[in-house]
Amino acid sequence: MSRHSPFDPAALAAEIFDAVREMSRDAEGVSRPAFSPLETEVLDYLAAFGARHGLVVTEDAGRNRVFCRPEHAAAESWTLIGSHVDSVPMGGNFDGLAGVVAGLLVLIGGADRLARPVKLLAMRGEESAWFGSCYLGSKMLTGTMTATDLAAGHKGDNRPLRDHLADLGIDTEAVAAGRPLCDLGPIRAYLELHIEQGPLLVEKAIPAAVVTGIRGNFRYRAIRCIGEGGHSGAVPRAYRHDPVLAMADLLSRLDETWRRILITGGDLVLTSGVIGTDATRHAIARIPDEVAFSLDIRSQSAQTLTEMQLYLAEEMADIARARGVRFETGPRVDSAPAMMDAEITEGLMAAMARRGIEPFAMASGGGHDAAVFAQAGIPAGMVFVRNRNGSHNPHEAMELDDFLIATSILAAYLEE
Ligand SMILES: [Zn+2]
Repeated sequence: MSRHSPFDPAALAAEIFDAVREMSRDAEGVSRPAFSPLETEVLDYLAAFGARHGLVVTEDAGRNRVFCRPEHAAAESWTLIGSHVDSVPMGGNFDGLAGVVAGLLVLIGGADRLARPVKLLAMRGEESAWFGSCYLGSKMLTGTMTATDLAAGHKGDNRPLRDHLADLGIDTEAVAAGRPLCDLGPIRAYLELHIEQGPLLVEKAIPAAVVTGIRGNFRYRAIRCIGEGGHSGAVPRAYRHDPVLAMADLLSRLDETWRRILITGGDLVLTSGVIGTDATRHAIARIPDEVAFSLDIRSQSAQTLTEMQLYLAEEMADIARARGVRFETGPRVDSAPAMMDAEITEGLMAAMARRGIEPFAMASGGGHDAAVFAQAGIPAGMVFVRNRNGSHNPHEAMELDDFLIATSILAAYLEE
């Protein structure tokens, strides 16, 4: 298809989704590792696609791709549409990619229609699955990457993020010094379209929603609880220092606190998704000497997150005393909650109404790059697309029609 063909958003979107799925297919779903050669390949494909459809494509210092219409290439300021191209291992094709495709459609279909200059940023490295913390691409752009982030080992090869960035020719000195890799000054606003990762829009039978805010979180990749091994039949209860029971005690105390926070109207979710005793030493008839578990605690309230950190420390100390075990948390990774800009949220709601859809707003449970831009002081807004089966799994199921509706809300907002 050339730039002279009539604009057919459904065909263009299907073409990109299919091509990128083929490039990143895994045993199940797709895998697009953060800062990998495959991620580069996907960005190269998108760049060629954009250029073929008349867009100007450049690369920024974070090795992300930036797209705009030729008449906006020299603009002094612009609205930025952003999203990520990486995925979790064996994840779905639409998480992240949908936002990039939406941006491409807004730009390609936007001739003479965009009220102000708009640029699209296709980013690397948003998913925490690869290096343990999220938003790595946007943190580099805004100068907010931490030393812990840079030192974190890759899920597969265990080499630190710093080395993976250096492989791509990214200036890791600047990143380590907290110097933003991009000039944030000209960015008037940041917009992101993303699939919903929970069940709300399916339950409510609504194709799209405007996002009000993004939950922050703190997490530990592997908290070690260290006790004392022993024979499961021979050691009486009073002499045991069982780390698994200590961990279970901690998790059930956290669960009870979660319940109380919800009753009082607070916002919290918590998950321990990776748990294990050492497979080389564990046995049915042996009291384990150690267990390791991940912990992910999220809330829209920064205060609730701070309180949970203190509470967690107190409870671990209490259980350690009572059971004669020791907790070693390892580094904590934080992401602060972020509110979307009220004016943009209203504007997106109005655009939704103009498109003939009942305006609907909701909070985001998952984290997104929009949080990083919002925290950097750039007014941000988000649109969610209805999506079945959640995300971060190969069964995510976004309907193309819903995607096109959500994209048209974004376009309607930018054309106002
Ligand atoms: Zn995402």
